[in-house]
Amino acid sequence: MRRSESTYDAIVVGSGASGSWAAKELTEGGLKVVLLEAGRNLDIANDCPVDAEVGGMGIVGRVKSAIQGQHVQVRCGAFSETTKQFYVNDRENPYTTAPGKTFVWIRGRQLGGRLHMWLRHVPRMSNYELKAASVRGDGVDWPLAYEDLVPYYDIVERTLGVYGKPARIPNCPDGQFIGPPKTTKIEEAFLTNVEKRLPNVRVTSVRKVKCDDNMVPLPVRLALATGRLDIRTDAVVSRLLIDARSGKATGVEYIERLTNNTQAVHGKVVVLCASAIESARILLNSASTTHPSGVGGSSGHLGRYLCDHVVHIQNGKVSEGDVEPGFASAGAGLYIPSFCEREPKNFPGGYGIEVAIGRGSPVWAMGAFGEMRPRFENHVSLDPIVKDAWGIPVARIECGHSQDELNMIAHMKRTLPEIAAAGGLQIDKNSDRLLRRDIASRLLRSLFLTDYGAFRPGGAIHETGGARMGDKPDNSVLNSYCQCWDADNVFVTDGACFVSSGFQNPTLTMMALTVRACRFIVEDYAKHVS
Ligand SMILES: Cc1cc2nc3c(=O)[nH]c(=O)nc-3n(C[C@H](O)[C@H](O)[C@H](O)COP(=O)(O)OP(=O)(O)OC[C@H]3O[C@@H](n4cnc5c(N)ncnc54)[C@H](O)[C@@H]3O)c2cc1C
Repeated sequence: MRRSESTYDAIVVGSGASGSWAAKELTEGGLKVVLLEAGRNLDIANDCPVDAEVGGMGIVGRVKSAIQGQHVQVRCGAFSETTKQFYVNDRENPYTTAPGKTFVWIRGRQLGGRLHMWLRHVPRMSNYELKAASVRGDGVDWPLAYEDLVPYYDIVERTLGVYGKPARIPNCPDGQFIGPPKTTKIEEAFLTNVEKRLPNVRVTSVRKVKCDDNMVPLPVRLALATGRLDIRTDAVVSRLLIDARSGKATGVEYIERLTNNTQAVHGKVVVLCASAIESARILLNSASTTHPSGVGGSSGHLGRYLCDHVVHIQNGKVSEGDVEPGFASAGAGLYIPSFCEREPKNFPGGYGIEVAIGRGSPVWAMGAFGEMRPRFENHVSLDPIVKDAWGIPVARIECGHSQDELNMIAHMKRTLPEIAAAGGLQIDKNSDRLLRRDIASRLLRSLFLTDYGAFRPGGAIHETGGARMGDKPDNSVLNSYCQCWDADNVFVTDGACFVSSGFQNPTLTMMALTVRACRFIVEDYAKHVS
């Protein structure tokens, strides 16, 4: 093994939504940082627009891409001719699942991670989710409250620029908005009609990060501007290097993607931002005599409580006269934060609904994203046999829906048409008949939908959990600053640290938690370590 001599103040693993923010915060705080990214650097000549296309690719293109090695990635609705290069090659990056429990794991490996595909809808979480046990009486309390996150939500929103309309909805707090997002006229009419006819249901515009045409994420550009950031792309991190006496990390080991050479880099602090399942995988693969079940494994909770949003989609037609051009790749215009707590129901938590109407084509679509109950048995472990293209044990994912999620899906199926009708939309009871009509279509449908009409777990692309935060070392892997109880110079700030999924799209909260953890590192931690 060839060992690099450099020692950094901090090592950040992964350059996507969380890693880009970790690099910014740590370098702006004065630390010398190396950012390790498993994927390639961006190829400005060949990579295309940052804004993901909605509508995706036809079946022939998907079959072709599947044959070329992206057989899981093609199940993502937003997979398209112009974005397919941002999704991983599933042959090089395999994973295994428990029998009968399909998990659709959609990933991006390049500088910027999945920021090249995401649709940029960024609702804040609230105490209804962060303090679910105390406020709602179901779910789990996080070791921090909404008030602890507000300054960091503010920083992220002000830096990126977020469109939104203040709406004073208790479980969807307003943020630092730069102005309202664009909505179609028929969406505005829908909003007015639903709020008038369904007093329990609040509708607002989506909260949307301003489109940034630069291929390098803004936080990475800001980090580079400090002169304190080194970026190593094509660096596939396999494990943490651990000092046997102190149990702390001394650095990380990585494999060079193109040469397969093993390298090491040393640092005083390691911040894992490789995405929820990947970060759990790295912690598990770092088992040693000091950490026999992996770093963070002493509690028995490492890899546990994996969640993904529970998704159900309905759609229908609108007249050509209601179609407005210029919206084709803009995602949803409206957002209905969870209203479930104001209704009788037989499942914990709730769901939010994204609504798109007349955006470039004569259709409406409502996508419900629901909170999945964090359950111990839904977990990530290391597959004992299968390895990826670089010889690293792959993740074995076991994640299924319980009766709670089935009840939530049944509620969505009943309620979405009621809301659509209240908003003046036409309901087509057979809207998915095309996908049901023959064996091939049914087979296709089963690749991403369960027989009860939900996205298969993973399909929401909102994975969280695996190294959850908590108030005690025996109930969690990390404390409220995303700091590992078992090795206090290891931090995990991506979705792995989530205690529960909430119903909100998770990325803004990942970014805010990253800023909070990194400011803690700069102010309270780095100065004490030699
Ligand atoms: C089509 C689509 C639409 C979406 N829309 C939204 C939305 O509207 N709102 C929302 O909140 N979320 C959305 N998401 C989800 C969002 O993209 C993710 O939540 C977010 O990117 C997760 O951030 P992350 O930093 O954890 O992971 P990523 O952004 O995936 O970044 C992880 C990085 O780590 C790198 N990495 C992984 N393993 C290793 C390793 N071993 N060594 C080194 N580097 C490694 C990867 O290459 C990658 O660059 C969407 C996702 C997709 C695909």
